[in-house]
Parts: sequence; structure tokens; C-alpha cells
Amino acid sequence: MTAPTKPVLRFRQITYAQHQGWACVLCGASLWTAEGGVSLGHASIGDGPRAYTIEVYACPRCASATETTTEGS
Ligand SMILES: [Zn+2]
Repeated sequence: MTAPTKPVLRFRQITYAQHQGWACVLCGASLWTAEGGVSLGHASIGDGPRAYTIEVYACPRCASATETTTEGS
């Protein structure tokens, strides 16, 4: 077992497209574009006992915004 390197993201509800990795989980942008999606790792979806974990994707802009802490743009 290895320790997780990132905190697990949490979402109350995401769309079908976001489930499938077709849309950015952060801004909803389509990832069917040339740029494609970047994995954010695993996220917890839902609340309480009905929560589950899936791998989620973000557009490159959102992914870079979440990866770094204090890097200016
Ligand atoms: Zn995005």
C-alpha cells in the first residue's frame, strides 16, 4: 500500500459526462477537444453511505490550477 499523494476531491453530484471522463469535473468543459483531459486522481462522489470513488478528469487549465499551490498565472 502506498499513501495517497493528493487529498481526495469531493463532489456532491457530477454529470454523466463527468463520470465518463468526457467533461471537466471542475468547470464542466468538454474534454472531447484536442487538448483532452488530465486525471485528477480519485474523487469521492456523493454524501455519506452512498458516496463512492471514481477517477475524475479535468481540463488542462483546471488541472494546473489545482496542482500548484501558489503559482501565479
Ligand atoms: Zn475545467
